[in-house]
Amino acid sequence: MILAYKFRLYPSRAQRQTLDQMLRDFCKLYNAGLEQRIAAYRMRGISLSYKAQASELKAVRAAGEGLERWSFTAEQQVLRRIDKTFKAFFARIRRGETPGFPRFRARARYHAAEFRVGDGLTLRKNDRIANRIANRLGIVGVPGDIKVKCHRKLPGEAKSAILARQNDKWFVVFHVEVAEAERLDGETVGIDLGLSSLVALSTGETIERPNWTRRAAKGLRKRQRSLARCKHGSRRQVKARARLAAYSAKIARKRADTLHKLSANLTARFAAIGIEDLNIKGLARGMLAKDVHDAAWAQLASMLDYKAARAGGTIVKVDPRGTSQTCPDCGTIKAKRLSERRHRCACGCDLDRDVAAAQIIHFRAFGSRPGHGLQNSRRRVAA
Ligand SMILES: [Zn+2]
Repeated sequence: MILAYKFRLYPSRAQRQTLDQMLRDFCKLYNAGLEQRIAAYRMRGISLSYKAQASELKAVRAAGEGLERWSFTAEQQVLRRIDKTFKAFFARIRRGETPGFPRFRARARYHAAEFRVGDGLTLRKNDRIANRIANRLGIVGVPGDIKVKCHRKLPGEAKSAILARQNDKWFVVFHVEVAEAERLDGETVGIDLGLSSLVALSTGETIERPNWTRRAAKGLRKRQRSLARCKHGSRRQVKARARLAAYSAKIARKRADTLHKLSANLTARFAAIGIEDLNIKGLARGMLAKDVHDAAWAQLASMLDYKAARAGGTIVKVDPRGTSQTCPDCGTIKAKRLSERRHRCACGCDLDRDVAAAQIIHFRAFGSRPGHGLQNSRRRVAA
């Protein structure tokens, strides 16, 4: 299992300029490599290999265009990226599709470079913090070491890393191979992403939606409106767009933080977790913000996946159809309007609607409701 660890970088002004220059050069290399491939394909009908392009890299670096300043292996990765793009392109042609040709990349949209750790990019331990947390990053071609905030220890040796620029902030993402833990036994739970709460657990617990989510929706609307009011192509528009992007990124960080804490908590408490399988196209919930809902759910599901794998837990995905319309006690299908906050059934079952859905999910995943005995696990529940 490969885990990604993302850390923020704090380059000086000079280092920032050098990093920008590096990405500009990598972008140029990418476009030149792409052009060469397209020409070979159009004029001779052949597909250049990565090997063929990489063998020319030395000569290209010697040509004095500035590429010789940067890491050789990072530039090889640029060529590998072209190779991947082309392989995907040909795979689609073989499937009978008609994909567009791989596109040239604009400098302003070229934001990342791949490195082999220890070769072109090195994490250095800071002596003052007695080899506890490394907090300096050396990159070939960049003067001095770059400050990096390693907010946690890497669980192993990182083999590769991605250097990335996002909204003028710099990050490094380390990829670390981690062994999966032994399967463990323990409590099971079903969870459902709630309508009013953030998630509901089949145990009856609901976890509140953080307060900032409402403010965030308002803040986003405000910035979208002010962008829409700007004259096309004006400086004001550029600034407004940057403000919207920075705000969206901030919300994304907050959401990731919330979901990281939630998934860490759940995988620590439960050995097996039942969730809805988003790949099964269920009946639409009729929610206004279904896309937002699904995006957050997909993010939480992937966090649960890897955190459970690391802790020896299991994630069971179930068919989501009808989870919110079924009574967990007697299996009766009972349609609810979105405004109905509680599940009340003729059998006497009275629960928070999201908790009831979580219990159905638990039933589908593990064949029983938590806290209920054999009797319940034998009873069939209609889907
Ligand atoms: Zn019932």
